[in-house]
Amino acid sequence: MSNRVVEGRMVTAESLAELIEGESPMEATEIEDADRECPDCGGNVLTVGYMPSVTSFVTGYKCQDCEWHDSEAE
Ligand SMILES: [Zn+2]
Repeated sequence: MSNRVVEGRMVTAESLAELIEGESPMEATEIEDADRECPDCGGNVLTVGYMPSVTSFVTGYKCQDCEWHDSEAE
């Protein structure tokens, strides 16, 4: 299952990464549950890995229920 509902909209790994990064990634991995709660609303947090450019890999986090998101570059 690669499509998930975020803020009431169906997203793919690519569109979820775009929500987090603000622009489309070159590549994105599968969406997974992040085993953590949103610090703003306590909602479920999803995680997706993506490459904003050929030389970087980012792990992004996004709440399913509100606008909260975070990212960690490797
Ligand atoms: Zn939230």
